[in-house]
Amino acid sequence: MTETTSYARAQQQLRDRIRDAWAQQPLYIDEIVRPGLTQNQLKAIRHASRQTEDTGLTHFLAIIPGLQTMGYGDWAKFTSDFAFDMHEESGAKQTLVLFSEGETSARSFAYLVTDNGPVVPPGAPELMKSKSDDFIPVELAVPYYLQVLVAAAEGTEPPPAPDFDTRDVGTRSEDYIERFGLDNSDPDTLVFGATTAAALGATLWLLSRRNRYSWRKELTTKPELVKSHNLKKAVTEAATPIPEPVRPDDETWALYDRGRRVQDALTALTSTHPDWAESVDFAHRNGVLVLVTLDRWVRRQLRRRSGTVDDEPRFCFLFPHHRRDIDDHVLKQSGRSLTVGLCADCREELGTGHDPERLMVPKLPGSRRAVPYFQRDDAYALSGFGSFQSLDEAVLDEMSPEPSAAGRSR
Ligand SMILES: [Zn+2]
Repeated sequence: MTETTSYARAQQQLRDRIRDAWAQQPLYIDEIVRPGLTQNQLKAIRHASRQTEDTGLTHFLAIIPGLQTMGYGDWAKFTSDFAFDMHEESGAKQTLVLFSEGETSARSFAYLVTDNGPVVPPGAPELMKSKSDDFIPVELAVPYYLQVLVAAAEGTEPPPAPDFDTRDVGTRSEDYIERFGLDNSDPDTLVFGATTAAALGATLWLLSRRNRYSWRKELTTKPELVKSHNLKKAVTEAATPIPEPVRPDDETWALYDRGRRVQDALTALTSTHPDWAESVDFAHRNGVLVLVTLDRWVRRQLRRRSGTVDDEPRFCFLFPHHRRDIDDHVLKQSGRSLTVGLCADCREELGTGHDPERLMVPKLPGSRRAVPYFQRDDAYALSGFGSFQSLDEAVLDEMSPEPSAAGRSR
């Protein structure tokens, strides 16, 4: 028998054993490792499983022998496929599946599975290991990973990583936690599991998932906006003098000043980027769209005779041309939160575990590498198209040839 077929056979046997046990109960502890576990370890594992059950979420937990000897990539695919099968079988909306090695290293594969496929939540690396090469033991790893999965399923903050007393403080560094690199600051962590597994040889559902997210790799090319929103004409119109208010009170004069700033910002943007309408960088078109929308809003308010003012237009943080029902939304990633304005569609997508499409722009001028606009360091990123500060302020700060009379200085 070749090595490969013996791996495959061992995997199949392990799968059958786990599968039989999971038909009865969510916790499987492999007979090979069980005798090596202490009472405390067993207690911690069982307790964590019961606590997860108490949340009402469906979970499956397998404590398995060390996998390292059997080839690494195979196990990512093996466990993610297995997790997806369990999800299909469970019929639940979300299924939590955790495989943890029951030996010292506790290498783990943690998946939150929806119909869209398994996802490795932020804060759940496969191997929790400190810089000093200490591993989290299974009795800490299992409760931690299960809590991370529950938090991901419920959309709450993931728990802090466990403290790990090495019992040998004299010679080892105690800097475990962030120190573990547990907080993966890569904003793409949400699909980390899927893309990793895909790179390792994906099954069909993974490929379709990857297709769904093809926008991640591509520069945004639509909607084209310039013609559909008649942006060139709008820019010309925005250059005409802002009408003096019909009702000359302080509030209206403030609005008038705002209109002047929006106008200046449009001038700054279009003269700094004269190719805004043709540029491969769609951030400029979106910027112009936002500014002319603000310009029209200001003019409409200034023409009003009544004291009522329409709310300032808001724009979707992920893709500013989205306008449907913008509301505040707390984005959570790697234990950090960020409040932004999101459209109803993007909020819905996030709610169902999908990644909404984003405005993808060149990483650097001329570069073909696409990044979400907010990963750059320019006026659009600083403003979030209105989520962090108004775009006119950010554009005036970043693109004006000289600080404006209002005393903006950087
Ligand atoms: Zn949106």
